[in-house]
Amino acid sequence: MSTGMEPVEEFRLRAREWIKANLGPLQPWDRTQHCKDDEEELVAVARDRALQRKIFDGGFAGICMPKEYGGLGLSPEHNRAFNEELAGHEYPSRFAVPTFNPCASTILEFCTAEQKAAHLPAILKGDEVWVQLLSEPGGGSDVAGITTAAVREGDHWILNGSKVWTSRAWWADWGIILARTNWDVPKHQGMTVFLVPLRAEGVEIQRIVRLNGESEACQEFFTDVRIPDSDRVGDVDGGWTIGTRWMFHERMGHNSPYVTYPSGLSQSAGHEDSPVAIARKSGKIDDPSARELIGEHRELGVVTRALQGRIADAATKANKDMSAIDRLFRGVASVRRSTIAFELAGSNASVWDEEEEAATDAVGMNFLMRQISCIGGGTTEISRNVVAERILGMPREASGDKGVPFREVPKGPKRA
Ligand SMILES: Cc1cc2nc3c(=O)[nH]c(=O)nc-3n(C[C@H](O)[C@H](O)[C@H](O)COP(=O)(O)OP(=O)(O)OC[C@H]3O[C@@H](n4cnc5c(N)ncnc54)[C@H](O)[C@@H]3O)c2cc1C
Repeated sequence: MSTGMEPVEEFRLRAREWIKANLGPLQPWDRTQHCKDDEEELVAVARDRALQRKIFDGGFAGICMPKEYGGLGLSPEHNRAFNEELAGHEYPSRFAVPTFNPCASTILEFCTAEQKAAHLPAILKGDEVWVQLLSEPGGGSDVAGITTAAVREGDHWILNGSKVWTSRAWWADWGIILARTNWDVPKHQGMTVFLVPLRAEGVEIQRIVRLNGESEACQEFFTDVRIPDSDRVGDVDGGWTIGTRWMFHERMGHNSPYVTYPSGLSQSAGHEDSPVAIARKSGKIDDPSARELIGEHRELGVVTRALQGRIADAATKANKDMSAIDRLFRGVASVRRSTIAFELAGSNASVWDEEEEAATDAVGMNFLMRQISCIGGGTTEISRNVVAERILGMPREASGDKGVPFREVPKGPKRA
């Protein structure tokens, strides 16, 4: 039966030609981590906006987004073909995650037609960068334990509280936020989702400098921020229904069909030399144990990609919690790959001075930062819980706050 869609292979050839003619090679600055200072980062953001616009004007933005919102209305296979052709080319990295996913994917799934029309075309044209505001200083794993509150005042909501670890907020335009709107019901039943402009009055954004010197993580403080009810997403107190799907999209990360991202590109921090190049540089290339490590590194990469493909297909059709399997494997495999690279580099990666090549210190820095892949997008421990409880059907972990009005749940000591 004809779907009326352009055949994937025809689309791929068209994409290949367009990419070759219009996009340059992948550059070191295609990663936010490589910006030396704020000025350079703002230039990179502007460049990414222009690049996204170029892809839109070229007719390849939002491959799986519906046509009515500026997308192409094609399938995940079309998106995968485009991403495969994009390998080795520049791309708008600051849009991939979290703007396209989980923000645009959640907007598409839950927003009203008016809200979608207001934001999805703007995202696809590179005019709006989005962030996701879930984690709080009191903890990120227990998402339903949030205390950032929205109180209704006529046709507005007044938002107060703080979110943290928000990637890329200081140069973003909008955020999708989960806020507490009812303290008198159990925690999962009293939350609502809103769309919040990050340049609104009462929003303060502070950057957090990480171990590797980059500062894309932020903390936001919301003080009496007025949000019109028209920017509420879904039902009042119905935020958990949206939240669970939002986290499903989040766990899919770059693997989401809504993301434009060069296939095979590592998502770990910093530039990554191939393990063969690292072993050559450290003089270990003929060492049999080093060769085994190189094989393991390659094997993990191949399995990660194969698993991602299978889960991406299956997760949309079958059990939505399956994205936790991909998220778990990706995290664990990435840590192991960073560790292997570090072992292959030997002392080259443990000690360096600033005069040395960036590639050498990137291996050491990737090793120091390796746990990021097990924390960002929800931790691997939480993914293990999801796999155990919701996929394998094992007993749920004990919880002291089940059925208890959130107001009465002990919240622990206040943090500064
Ligand atoms: C690179 C990066 C990007 C991020 N970007 C964003 C973003 O854009 N927006 C956003 O909102 N957040 C973001 N985060 C925050 C991230 O979602 C949280 O760090 C994560 O959910 C864990 O929360 P936490 O750090 O508060 O740790 P906690 O929730 O305090 O957990 C501490 C430790 O306890 C474990 N733990 C907690 N509960 C359980 C349990 N029930 N069972 C087993 N183990 C448990 C956790 O796995 C973790 O190891 C980002 C984090 C990183 C590293």
